[in-house]
Amino acid sequence: LWEAIQNSFRQRKSQVTFETLIAPAKPISLSHNNLQIEVPTKVHRDYWEKNLSSELIQAAEDAGFSGIEPHFILEGEFDPYTQGQSGDQTNFEMDTPLNPHYNFNTFVVGEGNKMAHAAAFAVAESPGQLYNPLFIYGGVGLGKTHLMESIGNHMLELNPSSKVKYVTSEEFTNDFIHSIQNNSTEKFREEYRTLDLLLIDDIQFLANKEGTQMEFFNTFNALHDNKKQIVMTSDRIPNEIPELQDRLVSRFRWGLTVEITPPDLETRIAILRSKVEEDHINIGNDTLNYIAGQIDTNIRELEGALTKVQAYSNLSHEPITPHLASQALKGLQRSKKTVVTVSAIQKSVADYYDITQADIVGKKRVKQIVVPRQIAMYLSRELTDYSLPKIGKEFGGKDHTTVLHAIDKIEEEMKSNNDLNEQINTLKAKLRS
Ligand code: ADP
Ligand code: MG
Repeated sequence: LWEAIQNSFRQRKSQVTFETLIAPAKPISLSHNNLQIEVPTKVHRDYWEKNLSSELIQAAEDAGFSGIEPHFILEGEFDPYTQGQSGDQTNFEMDTPLNPHYNFNTFVVGEGNKMAHAAAFAVAESPGQLYNPLFIYGGVGLGKTHLMESIGNHMLELNPSSKVKYVTSEEFTNDFIHSIQNNSTEKFREEYRTLDLLLIDDIQFLANKEGTQMEFFNTFNALHDNKKQIVMTSDRIPNEIPELQDRLVSRFRWGLTVEITPPDLETRIAILRSKVEEDHINIGNDTLNYIAGQIDTNIRELEGALTKVQAYSNLSHEPITPHLASQALKGLQRSKKTVVTVSAIQKSVADYYDITQADIVGKKRVKQIVVPRQIAMYLSRELTDYSLPKIGKEFGGKDHTTVLHAIDKIEEEMKSNNDLNEQINTLKAKLRS
């Protein structure tokens, strides 16, 4: 629903208005027709109340939700405990919905992931019965999240009434901290300990978080005792996660730990082929082989390379051939190999656009800063191996969804904006040298 509302505003308002006044608003909850929206300042609240309320109601109606009543709340004033008494409240902030695309049908099985795939599928078919917990680990962009959410989607398909929750370990931490601040730990526990399936993504971010680890330990035990399934992912095996309590590490050994390793060439080609078929892209096998030969570690990058080639073909009005692909992907491999820090990227971008590094990591929402900030996030993703949450952290503690949004934005813009492409290429060249 929120995405539909945002899209409608994005189309109808200027980019500046959208960036500064609309995008910062966040949905908090939807209970009956009462839609709670959190805004950062009074200015935002006034603007939404005066100018956007009726459009919002209309957009919601177009999306199939009629009679929505929006309420605007200033950041920090939301109290889920007093708000949440109506019972069947949907809580946006605590519930990341499963991505429907992440299912077993769209997951290509190959040498590097077949064990993990088999274990995940078995767990989805018989949750709580076989491998509990299931611990999937491996490098960035190898399909951990995809596989994990597939378990959730499959389980819901088999049994729509099962209670499934997907969170990153950071969301778990934030939920827990909020519950303490709001005196609602009871509710938090009720929420987590009555699940049929708990999916916790990127568990390595629980490192150093003593209190949260303790809470997680208790959540884990409660679920495990009741034969409820727990699935975790991480970029490394449990005992290599720094500062992870031994008792958690030993709990994780109760189940099955499986690794995902980088895909071999055939698997990479198969992944590209399935993507191409899904999106109806006209591209020959020789070009797919070429792309698969160029990117040999990260599947997200592999998909990114395909998008780049497509964009390049659109911009140059030339058909997709191996030669065009080689033009489009020039320098891509090299860029990953160089060691660039996020801070160096922030600094270069700031210098280039004549703002400060503090602006880049700050919260100002004026366009002259927002765009360079998004570019810096995009470059951090391109040139380093940092995960989205980690990049977010480097940008003054922003949420990984903010980072993702920034990257999407830039990628989208790059498809049609030659100036931007040129600026980004210049920055890349500078950072690589
Ligand atoms: P991770 O969580 O390990 O960083 P993701 O699950 O986010 O990786 O995967 C990155 C991208 O690659 C996603 O778009 C995902 O759909 C895709 N992907 C990964 N593995 C596969 C696979 N085996 N088949 C198809 N797509 C895949
Ligand atoms: Mg992931």
